[in-house]
Amino acid sequence: MATKAFSIKLFNVTLSCDRENLPDSVWLEIMLKVTPLELLVLQKLSRKFRRILTDNSRCWAQARNNMNPPVPPPPQVDAAGVWSESAYTQLIFGGGECIVKSCKRWTTRFPCSYALRMRVCSPKCEAILHRHYNKDERKINNGYLTSCAIPGKRGLRQMGQTQRLHFRSWLPYDERDMTKYPMHRVSSIATADQEWFSARAITEKRSARPPVAVIRTVAELQQQYRLRTEALPRIMQNAKALQQWTAAFSEAQKSVDLMNVAFFKEFVSPREQIPYRKLLKTRSVSNAMESFGRSLSTFDMRDWCGIRANAVREYRALRWTISD
Ligand SMILES: [Zn+2]
Repeated sequence: MATKAFSIKLFNVTLSCDRENLPDSVWLEIMLKVTPLELLVLQKLSRKFRRILTDNSRCWAQARNNMNPPVPPPPQVDAAGVWSESAYTQLIFGGGECIVKSCKRWTTRFPCSYALRMRVCSPKCEAILHRHYNKDERKINNGYLTSCAIPGKRGLRQMGQTQRLHFRSWLPYDERDMTKYPMHRVSSIATADQEWFSARAITEKRSARPPVAVIRTVAELQQQYRLRTEALPRIMQNAKALQQWTAAFSEAQKSVDLMNVAFFKEFVSPREQIPYRKLLKTRSVSNAMESFGRSLSTFDMRDWCGIRANAVREYRALRWTISD
């Protein structure tokens, strides 16, 4: 059987090893030193790593603290749902689909709202998400977001939507305070409605009911509502802390990017006799720049040697296509 060759970059040193032969304790030491993003990658890599991570959940907290600035801790929530450290890390660093239905492109950007758990891939998609946002009246109403479907408002009461009162106390809203009324996600309101109608159908022993993720009676659902209501302030506080963290992190990322560009300009470009702007355009370098930016690491000569062969080849290919 072929040995599984495996290399990991740590402290700017690349270790090449047979991962099956390294004892768990060594892997644990490594896992306590990496960033949350690297931990997510390790988790997906093998069953062995998943087991080590499940047995040592402190790795996630340590990884959060390995970031500079450290990532705020997840909210303590007693209500049902996935609130584990790994799910929390996945939400922040794992990337996801763009929320815009006609786009759905995978993006590694941070969520634009952590409480509503949505992210967009580009400024263009962000504009679609914020369509019909009225700055003066401070409200929004489109296919994704609404601050108008608030029960108790006259128009909606006429439309017979007062039953929607059931979600008012616990449904997370956008933490960015863009609107006067809480800004909800339209799809979460629909899910909340279905949950409520399904619970009523079950309690009243009706066979027709909307599909839901977890089947509950009205009493069980109301118990969940109580737990969610308790958790809401903590969820909102955490979402706001994450917004501040994202802003600080983006600042740090910008300065790391500048340092890395300067490294290419001052060290790599004169040595290779290639204009640095052209180098930055090659796929190897731009991919490396992106991943270095995400982990806030700076380039050095050793990193450059690792990607040099590919980058120079790509640069030559690029030059030929331009001169043709
Ligand atoms: Zn998009």
